Amino acid sequence: MPIATVNPANGETLRTFDALDGQETERRLAAAHRAFRSYRTTEFSERARLLNRAADLLDADQQEIARTMTTEMGKPVKAARAEAAKCAKAMRWYAANAARLLADEHPDDTDVKDSGASRARVHYRPLGVVLAVMPWNFPLWQVMRFAAPALMAGNTGLLKHASNVPQTALFIEDLFTRAGFPAGCFQTLLIGSGAVEAVLRDPRVAAATLTGSEPAGRAVASIAGDEVKKTVLELGGSDPYVVLPSADVGKAAETAVTARVQNNGQSCIAAKRFIVHAEVYDAFAERFAQGMRALTVGDPLEESTDVGPLSSEQGRTDLEELVEDALAKGATALCGGGRPEGLDRGWFYEPTVLTGITPDMRIHREETFGPVATLYRVADLDEAVDLANDTPFGLSSNVWTRDQGEMDRCVRDLEAGGVFFNGMTASHPALPFGGVKRSGYGRELAGHGIREFCNATTVWYG
Ligand code: NDP
Repeated sequence: MPIATVNPANGETLRTFDALDGQETERRLAAAHRAFRSYRTTEFSERARLLNRAADLLDADQQEIARTMTTEMGKPVKAARAEAAKCAKAMRWYAANAARLLADEHPDDTDVKDSGASRARVHYRPLGVVLAVMPWNFPLWQVMRFAAPALMAGNTGLLKHASNVPQTALFIEDLFTRAGFPAGCFQTLLIGSGAVEAVLRDPRVAAATLTGSEPAGRAVASIAGDEVKKTVLELGGSDPYVVLPSADVGKAAETAVTARVQNNGQSCIAAKRFIVHAEVYDAFAERFAQGMRALTVGDPLEESTDVGPLSSEQGRTDLEELVEDALAKGATALCGGGRPEGLDRGWFYEPTVLTGITPDMRIHREETFGPVATLYRVADLDEAVDLANDTPFGLSSNVWTRDQGEMDRCVRDLEAGGVFFNGMTASHPALPFGGVKRSGYGRELAGHGIREFCNATTVWYG
């Protein structure tokens, strides 16, 4: 894949970049390692000062970086601004909370006495240089939710960003440099995916985090496993969105539209499979399809646009194949099901709702990375839970009900890293984020996220 900015709204190549050669990659690796040796000894207060400064700079640059993201991957510009604002918030949250999250733990002296200890501590120390392999869908947020905790913990970062968002990748490196982080603390490597292995195998790289597809995750985790290096994987999702009879169906249908088409439908935590109790199915289906039809699809730089193009031609082809397979096997499109008229130059796809889904359809088990929803009718909660779990993925889940017993059952039985009631899944700096099954392992954000790339060191005093 060339490293280039190609505008998905019209297919124009705006800028291309040469990949770093081996010598430049080596120079950056050495700088990251060198930086770690001194940066790891800095105080939390100093790291917080730098990260808060970076957040201020990001706020000041919000318009500019939003337009860059939109031009590179097609998200509506209003969503791009919101993404930048969310990043600044997460940076400030980690600046304010890292010292608390990584404070020494003091096991009870009486508990450790029989080990011969007068006292013992758990001390969180940074791991070293962490390689971040990141995707294009939230090109700023996916990076920042790694970078903010990693830098606050005292690690240094090397970013291998997706090849279609090079300008955003360079902006991030520049942001940390302008904020005053020492040279080498956070660098972008403009390299293709084929060059990741050598970087990851380098002894100066301690660990890796990857957000992206399952094949990419498997490739990186296999190499890291071979090198016995820690990884965090945040892969795809096919989140269920369950609507039960006690729900506010109007609100559930309205939120369902946003939950499905956020980021042009290209979000790992987008609700993708809508599982609705028979009692409220018709009312939900009508309002949901109505809401999807009413969306404005078009130029993502326009403020009025709700849904922009998919990020790549291949992404649209993949989505089209899933829909065509389902339609050929008997599914029905309540709305959409093809390319919108009059938008021929970009990689647009209509907001689509499919019903009549059967297990032999690919769409039943595969992730739809675009504005396409599958809608299922179920007879009761048991069937809803079984269907919700009938997926290789387990990222998050959404349930609409006012019944506490049903909520407790869902918390107990849904195979996912999150359960969101009467609302849509969203990430928040103070809440851990991640999945089970093929959605990956490990957690980002909150205390869980910052400790992933720390050495929890047992300190024993005789
Ligand atoms: P990829 O998973 O291929 O790309 C994500 C990142 O991984 C990019 O930086 C990519 O680099 C890198 N990468 C890809 N393959 C390898 C490899 N073998 N070794 C090392 N690094 C690698 O995402 P795609 O853009 O191809 O999207 C395909 C599908 O992945 C989507 O349709 C969706 O299902 C899922 N996806 C999920 C995301 C999520 O948020 N969980 C985000 C993006 C995609 P490069 O760009 O240079 O190939």
